[in-house]
Amino acid sequence: MTTRIAIAGGGLGGLTLARILRRNGLDAVVYERETNRAQRRQGGMLDLHAESGQHALAEAGLTEGFQSRARPEGEEHRILDSDGRTLIHHVPEPGDFSGRPEIDRGDLRDLLLDSLPGDAIAWGHRLAAATPRPGGGWDLAFHDGGHADCDVLVGADGARSVLRPLLAELPLSYVATLVQLTVADADRRHPDLAELVGPGNLWCVGPSRILSAQRMGDGSLRVGISVHAEDRPVADFGDKRALLELFEGWNPRLTALIDAAGEPEPRRIEATPTGARWPHRPGLTLIGDAAHLMPPVGEGANQAMLDAAELAARLVAAPGDPDAAIAAYEEAMFARIGPIAQMSARIQAMMLSPTAAEDTVAFFTREPAPAG
Ligand SMILES: Cc1cc2nc3c(=O)[nH]c(=O)nc-3n(C[C@H](O)[C@H](O)[C@H](O)COP(=O)(O)OP(=O)(O)OC[C@H]3O[C@@H](n4cnc5c(N)ncnc54)[C@H](O)[C@@H]3O)c2cc1C
Repeated sequence: MTTRIAIAGGGLGGLTLARILRRNGLDAVVYERETNRAQRRQGGMLDLHAESGQHALAEAGLTEGFQSRARPEGEEHRILDSDGRTLIHHVPEPGDFSGRPEIDRGDLRDLLLDSLPGDAIAWGHRLAAATPRPGGGWDLAFHDGGHADCDVLVGADGARSVLRPLLAELPLSYVATLVQLTVADADRRHPDLAELVGPGNLWCVGPSRILSAQRMGDGSLRVGISVHAEDRPVADFGDKRALLELFEGWNPRLTALIDAAGEPEPRRIEATPTGARWPHRPGLTLIGDAAHLMPPVGEGANQAMLDAAELAARLVAAPGDPDAAIAAYEEAMFARIGPIAQMSARIQAMMLSPTAAEDTVAFFTREPAPAG
């Protein structure tokens, strides 16, 4: 009998998993709460690492599609101090895909969506609860009153996963506040800012705060401001005046990024405890942010996609024994994620430390770059 696999959440992790399973003839359906692919803007750029995100895309048979959409030049990064002095300027080799090429998150999601047949995704299905069925498998209840069932259930439903509590109590801690803004049409309307940011990422690092910007494929600039979680309530950062106050005394060439941008979108950055794990439960597991939410320093999407590739490989290798496959995936994933989550927490703390500029230069000159 075919094992029916349900995946809750059609983000990068869930879609990668569905693609690899379908490509290998397994029965997988993604239940996604959004009603269509265009419902929500997908956010900034991601750099995909060879050993994780790019490896997963290779397993998905999508390397060519990735290379045609990715921008190796987006790997260029500049780190400035609050006076606008350049501390580091890294320029990659032109057209070199061996590093960590950048891709807009929306383009990557489209690549995965376009690779799946229409019946692999059930849009507008917001999972409310899952309950075990007496003979094995799960009953899924959706917010609109609908139901479905499956033999194996994978939670790929992100930071506020509905399925996580069925496996583990992993309280979220509030680690930083991130405010995002967009400078539209930068080349034409703000050529000085386009030049400041360059083709990739810019980080302006001062005591206990960061002003960053990245160039998107459509020519806009995605600006980010990170501060300590305890600095002020998140809602206070919905106002540009409050943001500019944070950067009093900084070089105006840098704060011009805030002046030129549209409305601020503040959000909490949260994390699950590092080293978290859970005892295996038949027919159920988690991937990506649902399994391990980390500060955004360049690993979350890469690890979500690698989780997908590793879980898929084990399910494909043992189609008759999904529980052995899941248990093996979980043990390997816990061992892999522990050190990465610790490193991500260290980088996040370093980038908001009182000596962030010096610490960041020291870090960049000894380890590969994080991404924003
Ligand atoms: C500002 C920022 C910058 C980042 N930059 C990087 C970077 O450069 N590199 C990197 O590797 N990572 C980065 N990350 C982290 C990365 O975005 C996440 O780790 C990654 O998106 C996790 O993928 P996922 O599939 O697990 O979850 P998500 O991408 O969150 O997808 C979850 C999906 O589940 C759906 N969903 C949620 N609840 C339900 C429900 N109840 N029922 C049905 N569907 C549901 C959602 O609509 C969504 O489509 C960044 C994060 C942030 C916040």
